[in-house]
This record gives sequence, structure tokens and C-alpha cells, in this order.
Amino acid sequence: MFNALVIRQQDEQQQVAIEQLQEDQLPEGDVTIAVSYSSINYKDGLAITGKGKIVRSFPMVPGIDLVGTVLESDSPNYKAGDEVVLTGWGVGEGHWGGLAQKAKLKSDWLVPLPDGLSPQQAMIIGTAGLTAMLCVMALEHNGVSKDKGEVLVTGASGGVGSTAIALLHALGYSVTAVTGRAENADYLKSIGAHDIVLRSDLEDRAKPLDKQRWAGVIDAAGGNILANALAQTNYGGCVAACGLAADFKLPTTVMPFILRNITLAGVDSVMCPVAKRQQAWQRLQQLLPQSFYQQASEQISLEQVPEWADKIIAGQVTGRTLVKL
Ligand code: NDP
Repeated sequence: MFNALVIRQQDEQQQVAIEQLQEDQLPEGDVTIAVSYSSINYKDGLAITGKGKIVRSFPMVPGIDLVGTVLESDSPNYKAGDEVVLTGWGVGEGHWGGLAQKAKLKSDWLVPLPDGLSPQQAMIIGTAGLTAMLCVMALEHNGVSKDKGEVLVTGASGGVGSTAIALLHALGYSVTAVTGRAENADYLKSIGAHDIVLRSDLEDRAKPLDKQRWAGVIDAAGGNILANALAQTNYGGCVAACGLAADFKLPTTVMPFILRNITLAGVDSVMCPVAKRQQAWQRLQQLLPQSFYQQASEQISLEQVPEWADKIIAGQVTGRTLVKL
């Protein structure tokens, strides 16, 4: 028997509770894993609170991230005792996920725990950190080098935003953080932000073009914030868009694209190919300073997960939340 957080649905209503499950209840997969840590992402918050249509079948064990040790494997690529990391691939949405002491998964979805990272560090990074790294890589790919000017990071206090700030700082970029929580300014500066902009400055409907301020942008917010960021990006700059913490809509015009040659780079971590994931994990291990893991994370128990799901949707979580299984 093992403990799992289970979402059930009855009469269109979700119920979330910790249940004791047996191994033979686990879904199909060629690798069984003893999960040591999971984490809470915004998407987990949407799934557990039911505020977003994330879960595709019930009952569901949520948790889009996990790290653990292989117990049994039918795959030639993994053997009992190997430490592995899982993010994305629809796990915690359509396949039982990481908020359980055991998981059964497809070996193709796994990456070996990168050398030099502890299981806790891998989950402090998690989907949010992987996405932040993929955003940084998108800026690099589109020519935003550190000598080009300031990089804006929105949703700064959250998991993607905090990790993006730390990564950009480690790479020598000058970073401006956008936050709705002025009280987090010291935290954001401690992880690498050089300047702070209040979210309210970017929430009004965007002009087609605005004063050029940013060489690049990493956006976790969407909506008017992304539209304003596009209107304020320098000629030839790039905006990496990965999130919708404000809105899934994008009320913009073609002006930033056709008059300022700006690239809007979409970033998805869920279906990211394995080779790119491994490259991203290696860079995360190399770039994030040890101090980041202490400054930007908090550990909770499985029992505390529903409360933290409410908090992340209310925008009250700072940095990353690690869940000990
Ligand atoms: P978090 O909740 O940890 O961070 C989001 C942050 O956005 C908050 O901390 C807050 O920061 C800010 N925020 C909250 N509400 C609003 C609002 N109404 N308007 C503008 N900003 C707001 O979430 P994650 O970092 O895990 O995820 C961020 C976004 O990225 C989510 O939309 C998520 O779905 C998406 N995402 C996408 C992925 C992909 O593969 N494309 C992968 C991972 C995440 P502050 O208080 O500093 O303003």
C-alpha cells in the first residue's frame, strides 16, 4: 500500500483526498518508481482546485513533476536503483502523476537525474525551472545576447519567473522583474533582479507601439502584460511566451512584428523532445547557484498540497514548492 493524492469527480464536483492505493491499481507503464519528491506548479493548482480543465480522466493522481528511484523496469534503458526525473508528457493530467509515493510511467518520458543535482534540487527546478531554461534558450536562439540590453521577466515571484531571473543573472544579463507584490522586491533582487517594475504598470490595454525598453522578455503572464511587453521590446528583440497567469488572451496588433522585427517565441515544456530536455537540465545544473535552492523554495507534505494548490492559484506562493512523499 502507498499514499496518493486522488482527484475524483462526482456530479461535476471534484473531491480531493489522500488515499491508500495498491501497486496493481497503477496505470500502464514499463517503469515503476518510488517517488521521493514532487512539486507544485501553477498547472497542478489548476488541476487540484478544478479551476482549469487540466484533468482528462478520473480518478486522477495529479502532479506533473516527480523524482524518484526505479523499483522495477521492463525497459533496457533503466534498471532498479536508477534515479530518474519526470516532467510533463501529460502526466498528472491524463496519466497518474507525481503526488503519490509510487508511479508507473513510460520509460521514454524519463530523464536520468542529472549528475550534480540532488533529488530535492531537481524538484525545486521541476517543470517551472525547465520552462524557464527553455525560455532563456529561445532568447539566445533569437539573438538576445547580454550586451543587447535589459531583459524583462514577468510573473517574477513565481516558479518560472524566479528561475528565469536566476538563470539570466548567472548568464550575465541585466534583469528587470515584473511583480504584483512590491513586498517581494528584496527577494527578487536577492536572486538576481537588477530592477523592479510593478505589474500595475503593464496591466492597462497596450498601445500598438510604446517606448522601446527591453532587448528580450520572458513572459509567464499573457494578456495585457504580454501585449505591453511586445509593444515595449526593442527593434529586433524576442519575447518568449510560456504562460497565462494573467490571461490566455493576447490583445495585441501586428505593429511590433512588422515595424520592429520582433519575434514572439512560443515555449512549451510538456512535449519538449528528450534531447532538448537533457540539454536544458544540464544547463540548469551548471547555471543555478547553490543559494538559489535555499532562497527560492519551501518544502511541504502531501497533506498540505490542497492548501498550496489554492495558494498558487491566488498568486500567494513565492518561488517553488517541493512536496516530500
Ligand atoms: P506561479 O504561480 O509559481 O507563478 C506565477 C506568478 O505570476 C505569480 O507568482 C505572480 O508573481 C504572477 N501572477 C499571479 N497572478 C497574476 C496575474 N493575474 N497577472 C499577472 N501576473 C500574475 O506559476 P508558475 O511559475 O508555475 O507558472 C507560470 C505560468 O507559466 C502559468 O501560467 C503556467 O501555466 C505557465 N507554465 C507554462 C509551461 C509551458 O510549458 N508552457 C510550463 C510551466 C508553467 P508576482 O506576484 O511576482 O506578480
